[in-house]
Amino acid sequence: MSLLSIHNLVKRFGALTATDHVSLEVEQGEIHALIGPNGAGKSTLVHLISGLLPADGGSLTLAGQELIHLAPHQRVAAGLSRCFQITSIFPKLTVADNLLLAVQAHHRNSFRWFAVRDHDAALQALAWDLAQRVQLQTDWNTTAGTLPHGAQRKLDVALALAANPKLLLLDEPLAGMGPEESAEMTALIGELRTRHPGMAILLIEHDMDAVFQLADRITVLVYGKVLAQGTAAQIQTDPRVQAVYLGQEDEVGELEEQEEGAA
Ligand code: ADP
Ligand code: MG
Repeated sequence: MSLLSIHNLVKRFGALTATDHVSLEVEQGEIHALIGPNGAGKSTLVHLISGLLPADGGSLTLAGQELIHLAPHQRVAAGLSRCFQITSIFPKLTVADNLLLAVQAHHRNSFRWFAVRDHDAALQALAWDLAQRVQLQTDWNTTAGTLPHGAQRKLDVALALAANPKLLLLDEPLAGMGPEESAEMTALIGELRTRHPGMAILLIEHDMDAVFQLADRITVLVYGKVLAQGTAAQIQTDPRVQAVYLGQEDEVGELEEQEEGAA
């Protein structure tokens, strides 16, 4: 059984079918990338998975549990964590306090029989462990809002990991990063695989170098439909994919930049 199973998912905006009977499977421990040109329906699919948008049809199961009628926080409890692109960070708090709050929120019941001192020590240890996993140890006492962009994205990943998810949704984790920060974040995502054995990642990313470096399998969306699914090598050499997507990568990149500038 796959960890995440999406079957015939549908989302309509008026006459537009933004998600057109999409089916895909994410296996335990897999990094699965979702790619496709601008407007293909990637963000819509992420919102359907996280529960931010209600679906018009289809099913979505995580480890066998149907999620389609659950609210976003219930999906988090079921094992689905999403990075919210920095918006979940408290900018006036330190890295340590951000992590402690996240750990506290997700372990409310884990240590309730502990003495207060042991309870605090256990939470501190979990928070410090998260800081290590995203290499933010040296920023432990830094005010989160003053961190460089790349470090804030790392903190955002750590906050999502605090829920100890079965599946981590990464929506454009490299957006707005320079080459050095991108390389660092790409390496970090790769390392999550060894640090969280069994956790799967659904990665939406425009940086094709990162996608081909990280992804075990790739799903290509075009006009809301799945155009192709396969390993990185299969997708790279798929003529249909080259025709509709990879051939116009530069153009797509430019459009995205314009869109981001306008937003
Ligand atoms: P991607 O993330 O792949 O660029 P989106 O999921 O953002 O694509 O958009 C897919 C299509 O759905 C686009 O045509 C977009 O204009 C449309 N769309 C997305 N969100 C809405 C919405 N809230 N209302 C109406 N149309 C939407
Ligand atoms: Mg998008």
